[in-house]
Amino acid sequence: MWINFTFILILCLITFIGFSGYSLAKNNADKVPNRAGLANQLAQLPPNYDGPPEGAMCYDMAAPVNRVQYHCPVCEESTSYYSTFGDNIGDLYNIRLSISRITKIDVKLDESQFCKKCSPDVKNPEYCIIVTYGKNAQPHKTCGIDLVDLSLLYDFSEGKKEHNNSPISKYKERLEELLGTKLNDAGK
Ligand SMILES: [Zn+2]
Repeated sequence: MWINFTFILILCLITFIGFSGYSLAKNNADKVPNRAGLANQLAQLPPNYDGPPEGAMCYDMAAPVNRVQYHCPVCEESTSYYSTFGDNIGDLYNIRLSISRITKIDVKLDESQFCKKCSPDVKNPEYCIIVTYGKNAQPHKTCGIDLVDLSLLYDFSEGKKEHNNSPISKYKERLEELLGTKLNDAGK
C-alpha cells in the first residue's frame, strides 16, 4: 500500500514539474528532485514481477518439471528429488493406489526409504511392502517392489487363476517371496 502511495506521489510530482517547466525545477532544485532524480527513484521501486527475463526462461521452466517433493507421512519431513530419471519416486501415486486395491490380504506399504530423515543412508530408495499372510504369520517385509509385483499380488488376493494371461502358478516363486510363506502346488 505504501509503495502504491509513493508511486502515485511521484507520478503527481512528475506531472507538476512537467506543467511548471524547467524554471520551477531549477529554482527549487534543493527541494524538488529533478527529472533524473525522479527517474532514479522510480528505478529503485520494487518492480512488479511479471516472469523471468526471456533468456532465462528455458532454465526456469525446466526446473519445476523435474522437481518432485516427497512428503513423509511418518515424520512429516519433505525430501526433494530433482529428477524422475534414475529413481522411481514418480511411481509413488500408482504404488499407493495399487496397494489400496489389495483388500483381501494384509499388505502395508513401507515407503520410508524415500525420506532422507527416516533413511539417511539410502542412496537408491525402493518401495517395500509388509505382508502378514496366513495363520500365526509374522509380518514379512520385501523391498524392491514394483507395480508388476502389486498386480500379481492383487490377482492372487482375488483368487484369480491367471495373471497376465498365464497360469498364476507360474509366478509361485515370486508370490512366496512377497507373502513370506510357502505355497502348495495349488497356489494357496
Ligand atoms: Zn520420514
